[in-house]
Order: sequence, then structure tokens, then C-alpha cells
Amino acid sequence: MFVDVGFACIFRRYGVIGMVKTYLNFIDGKWVRSSSGKTFDNMNPATGELIARFQAGTREDVKKAVKSAKNAFPAWRETPATERADILLRSSLILEKRKEELSRLMTMENGKILSEARGDVQEAIDMFQYMAGEGRRLFGETTKSELRNKFCMSVRDPIGVVGMITPWNFPMAIPAWKIAPALVCGNTIVFKPASDTPLSVMKLAEILDEAGLPKGVLNVVTGSGGVVGKEIVENQGIQHLSFTGSTEVGREVYVGGAKKLNSVELEMGGKNPQIVLKDADLDLAVQGALWGAFGTSGQRCTATSRIIVEKPVLKKFTEKFLRKTRGIRTGNGLKKGITMGPIINGGQMTKILGYIETGKKEGAKLLLGGRRLSGKEHKRGNFISPTVFGKVTKSMTIAQEEIFGPVTCIMEAKDFMDAVNIANSVDYGLSWSIYTRDVNKAFKAMELAESGIFYVNAPTIGAEVHLPFGGVKGTGNGGREAGTTGIDEFSEIKSVFVDYSGGLQRAQIDNK
Ligand code: NAD
Repeated sequence: MFVDVGFACIFRRYGVIGMVKTYLNFIDGKWVRSSSGKTFDNMNPATGELIARFQAGTREDVKKAVKSAKNAFPAWRETPATERADILLRSSLILEKRKEELSRLMTMENGKILSEARGDVQEAIDMFQYMAGEGRRLFGETTKSELRNKFCMSVRDPIGVVGMITPWNFPMAIPAWKIAPALVCGNTIVFKPASDTPLSVMKLAEILDEAGLPKGVLNVVTGSGGVVGKEIVENQGIQHLSFTGSTEVGREVYVGGAKKLNSVELEMGGKNPQIVLKDADLDLAVQGALWGAFGTSGQRCTATSRIIVEKPVLKKFTEKFLRKTRGIRTGNGLKKGITMGPIINGGQMTKILGYIETGKKEGAKLLLGGRRLSGKEHKRGNFISPTVFGKVTKSMTIAQEEIFGPVTCIMEAKDFMDAVNIANSVDYGLSWSIYTRDVNKAFKAMELAESGIFYVNAPTIGAEVHLPFGGVKGTGNGGREAGTTGIDEFSEIKSVFVDYSGGLQRAQIDNK
């Protein structure tokens, strides 16, 4: 498994306890143990097997990482953006070469089925290549001055040391969305991965190191949110915070960042609707809903957790949807024929089962699933059968709160405007989808959707790296990742005025 990095590197990077590897933190270009002397376990959610051990990081570890990132910053910001971009490009080529191995490891640590894990790694490759291109752009603006013989432009500067905290559902794609733009812009990084999926980030760090990233530019500290995450949020040496995770924790990160006047980018929860109008291609809408609701076992911020169907086609859509949902095969994502993987951990499984009970109690009709799977293939893992509720109304808890599991709600709409109102009746605003053949309604819905992402005749999931990604209301705080907006997140804009008149010219005074 580690043949590609050689034995010497293995002993430098990992200690080996029996058959299980212990990964170290990556600080100042070295693989080091945590000052706690403690580790935590990373389990396979499909089999219950121990995959590896990781450092239980401390505040002290984060402080060292910040110091290292601070020291590396002056030289990194001076490095031409094209050279920074070359490292991203080289990393993307290594990722491509190792895609299959990395995807398999991801399926083991996260549970998502292999084809989806390949998509996750591909998204990292795409983002690295896209941001490598930015090394030759990083555009500012030029414009005219209101005064004669004066030149105006804006240029981009890096922010400094940036802190990153990520969730477990896209173990490599989400870190890549943050790391690639931050690096090309000239920032240095202190990174904390989710404790359920630290392995993919360790691999990313290993690859960037191999591609020639100077020491101290990227530092990775594993450990709990309450310790490592909190220190990243509070550390005075960090100038910008980039967080993806739940709205609950995001709010804390925002408040912590505000106290030290950091810019804070938040990408948080969703409660995404797919509207199906009466003129829709129902088979296509069923395919979209199936992928949107049960892809990654519904553990996506963009998952379709509400399917809002116009009354005349409700019965037909529901029948077709249930038929297809029955065909989902749940199990270990490394096995052929499996189309849905496990839930990430026991706590999350209990939470999802709790929501299912609440749904039943509040009067929703359980149409399918709704239970933990415990047969031979499932008993060691965290599996919940694909679950569909009917007769869901917008005030119910399951129609309002993010469940983050394989549970979707079918809701009836009287007409187009009723569907739009139901879709907007939540505190989140990430992704929206509408299935219709009526172009007027599609555009009207686009105008009315309270969301950062909008799809026509496509499911609520399916982001592409060159477009902005993020949401409104409880999903975000105004920023967007990916696309050119990813560059905005990680750069400071400086306005530059050059007066070549040879005299003092006073704006707003001398020319009026
Ligand atoms: P989470 O909020 O529990 O954890 C996210 C990260 O924050 C983890 O690394 C965690 O260790 C850390 N953390 C926890 N407490 C902290 C604290 N007090 N201070 C600092 N850091 C802390 O989320 P999760 O369960 O890992 O992920 C699921 C959530 O992520 C869902 O709500 C999902 O919608 C959201 N998500 C959003 C997007 C998006 O782009 N909008 C993408 C993926 C996931």
C-alpha cells in the first residue's frame, strides 16, 4: 500500500502498530506526533473494521502549525503565481495516477460507493487543474480615473494564514475546493479534516509534498472539533476561516472569527427541494429524485430531501419512484452491484432513525424503508434502508430540518406557485431543482428560488468546479466557493492609484 513512497518514508511518516497504521500530523513539512501522545481510531462504516489511527491533536499542535504557516508565508507570497500553479498541476497528475487507489481508500473510510468515491477524487483533480489555470489569471480590474493623468487598477494579494475546517461527506473534494484556490492565491494553510475521514486529506498532503510544495505552506492537524477546530477558530495568527459543515457549528465558527475580525466563509446545511410539475417527463424526474435523494446515502448538503409534486401527477410519480427505490442495493460500496453505502457513524445513524420516528409521530406516511438493516451483509455496519415518506406537510420536522441520511419526503403541491412557496418554506437555501417542459415556469422558478444553486430537469446534486458553489439563508453567509468566487474568497483586493500629472490632484474637489 505504501510501496509508492518507499520504506524510509513510511517510517518517517507512519509508525506501525501491528497491522494498523498510525498517521502523523503534517507540520512544517514533517510528519510529527501530537503533543497529546494520543490517537483516535478511524473505522470503516460498512464493516466496522479499524482502518487506521490518527493523532488526537492539541491546541499546542495547532499553535505549532500556525507558526510554521506564518514562517512560510513571506516566501510563498513572493513565489510567482505561475510557479504556485505548477505545483497544483503536478499534484493533479499524481492524483490522476493514484485515482483508483485513493478512491478505494475513500470508500473504506467514508462508505460512499466506489463510483462516487471516484467522482470525489475526480472533483479534486478538476479543482486542482482549474486553479492551476488561475495562476495565469488572478485578474484584477483596470478602470479610468475621474482625474486627468492618473491610472487606476485593483490587484489581488493573499490574505495570509488561513484556517480550514471540513466535514466528512466529501473527504477529498471539499478540502481540494479550499486548498487549491488558497494556494494559488499565495496563502499558507492550517487544516483540520473531519475525524471520520482524515485519511483522504493526509493523502492530499502527501501528494502536494511530493509535487514540491515548500515546507510549512500546508499544515494538517487531526483531532476533535472542540480542541483542534476551536484553536483554529480562536488563534490570533490566522486571518481567514474557511468552514464547511453544519449550520450549528458554522454559527460558532462565525462568532469566533468575528471576535478577531477574520473574514469567515461558511458552507453549511441544506434542505433541498425537487419540484415536479404536471408537464414534467416523469421518468426523468424519478431518475433525478433517486440520485438526488439516495446518492451518498443522502449524506450530501445538496441531497434532495423534499420532492414537491403537482397534484395531478402525484400518484403516478410516487408509484414510479417507490418502484425504483426498491431496486437500490445497500451494502459495502467496494462490492459490485451495491448502489448505496452506509451511514458514516453510529451517532449519525441514531439521529436519522430519530427523525424517522418523529416523521411517523407527526403524521407523515412511511411509504418505504424506515429501519436499520441488520442482515448478514449489514450487521457490522451502519445501514439504513432507503426511506420515503408521503403526506408530508411543510410544518413537519422532517420537512424543515436537515436529516442528512437516506430519507426523502414527498409533498403535494396544488399548483406551480404553491410548489415554489413550499420549496422556499425552510431556513436553508442551497440547491433547488425543477422538472418541467414549460420554459416560462422554469425561468420564473429560477427567479423566485431562495437558493445559491438552481437546476432545471436535473437533480439537486451535481456541482461543477468552475461555477460558484454556496447558498443563502441558513446555508451560508454570503460567500461562494469554487469558480472565480473561490479566488475571491482567498484574496484581498488592493486598489491602486498612480498619479502621473506631476502635481497634487484632489479627487472630488479639484475636478468639480
Ligand atoms: P460538523 O459541523 O459536525 O463538523 C464539521 C467540522 O467542524 C468537523 O471537522 C468538526 O470536527 C468541526 N467542528 C466541530 N465542532 C467544532 C467547533 N466547536 N469549532 C470548530 N470546529 C468544529 O458537520 P459534519 O457532520 O462533519 O458534516 C455534515 C454537515 O456539513 C451537514 O450539515 C452538511 O449539510 C454540511 N455540508 C455542507 C456543505 C456545503 O458546501 N454547504 C458541503 C458538505 C457538507
